[in-house]
Amino acid sequence: MANTLFRKVQESEDCYRSVVNHSKDVIFQANAKGIWTFLNPAWTEITGFSLNQSLGTPFLHYIFPGDHQFTIDDFEALMDRKKESCCREIRFVTKNNEFKWVEVFARPTFQADGTIIGVSGTLTDITERKKAESTLRDSEERYRRLVELSPDAILVYSEGKIVLVNGKAVNFFKAQQPDDLLGRMILDVVHPDSHIKVIQHTEQLYMNKGMLPPTEKKYVCFDGSVVIVETSSAFIIFNGKPATLVIFRDITERKITEKKLQEANHILHRLSNMDGLTGIGNRRYFDEYLEREWKRAVRNGKPLSLIMLDIDFFKTYNDTYGHIGGDACLRRVAKTIDEQLNRPGDMAARYGGEEFVIILPETESSGALHVAETIRTHIEALAIPHVGSPVYQTVTCSVGTATFIPTVYATSKDLMEAADQALYRAKQLGRNQVIVYEKQTIGS
Ligand code: GH3
Ligand code: MG
Ligand code: MG
Repeated sequence: MANTLFRKVQESEDCYRSVVNHSKDVIFQANAKGIWTFLNPAWTEITGFSLNQSLGTPFLHYIFPGDHQFTIDDFEALMDRKKESCCREIRFVTKNNEFKWVEVFARPTFQADGTIIGVSGTLTDITERKKAESTLRDSEERYRRLVELSPDAILVYSEGKIVLVNGKAVNFFKAQQPDDLLGRMILDVVHPDSHIKVIQHTEQLYMNKGMLPPTEKKYVCFDGSVVIVETSSAFIIFNGKPATLVIFRDITERKITEKKLQEANHILHRLSNMDGLTGIGNRRYFDEYLEREWKRAVRNGKPLSLIMLDIDFFKTYNDTYGHIGGDACLRRVAKTIDEQLNRPGDMAARYGGEEFVIILPETESSGALHVAETIRTHIEALAIPHVGSPVYQTVTCSVGTATFIPTVYATSKDLMEAADQALYRAKQLGRNQVIVYEKQTIGS
């Protein structure tokens, strides 16, 4: 009986000893004076000191001097029953004079009568965890500094909320301080036009955990102004959570400049194509336009009409009313011509001197004759006095029209010559009239 009990106690002791000996954490006991009275083999693994060497020595010997005070305070608090247990991270110094971060968990050890005779507990090596935390802190600190020093506005949002902004971003959004932005929903500062874009980009970043090249987005500032911004974004982990880092570049000014430049180019283009005296197309514009319409007509097989108009006895007009009077007359004629064109494709230009040309795309000969006749009568109806004209006492014009169905076997020059011939014929036949080019009539 006694033997069986003895064996059971023995087995139970063996079991505890095995657990204690194999524990990765140090299991310790210290007496009321702070002297190690028990340590398991994990102590040697963590500190390098043998058990024989260490037992009977004060635990303070092994603790980094900077952490002595905490340890003494904790020890006294336990001994004085001010605390039931304590847990603290402190540094131990190993046999090789290295630091080891250790989490100490300690409770008082009681005697059978309830008096406290020391402390016992565990020491866990947390050096690796501490190193990882410190690396993370360093890298976070480093990129916080980078963000703050960046010349661009930078913002980080996570779970839809703004979690980090730099000073430039505060200025950019015309906020007073970072707190105006921090904690807000990102979509609060995105213009509704760009909401879908921001949502899609965020999803894309979370999927591929990469970066997105600059794209244009609209944001709304605290003063209500809307800015067009080029943003680059990247996936990051912020405070342990997936987040999006956004770098802003205000391109509102650039956009305005681009628009002004576009307008200036447009004006320049218009100017280079405009006749300075009359404001209608010039010869350069006419040449380009005719070429384009000729090619289009070749493609679509539609007729193309050209009208050539020349003011009658204009030399005499100048002689009578002077050059300035002549210019004024040219302007009125040009305006009258332009006013008679109704279709968007019709185009009038001053070909040179007192000669005008009109292109009528997709227009039959009869249509061209109609337009030409309308123009002629309207010029006549202006009734601009022209006392020097041998035939009429007012300003009149002679007009030639030609209509071709362009093919690759002819050129726009052929059309020009045909209209010119018809105009010449109108002059010959007594002026102030329209002649339609017809092969058989010319030269007859
Ligand atoms: P026709 O009836 O045969 O066409 O006789 P015309 O006198 O109109 O023709 P001509 O070609 O002999 O003379 C054209 C005149 O147009 C010569 C010039 O005095 C005048 N002219 C040409 N360009 C301008 C201009 O820009 N301003 C003014 N005021 N006159 C111009
Ligand atoms: Mg002429
Ligand atoms: Mg003339």
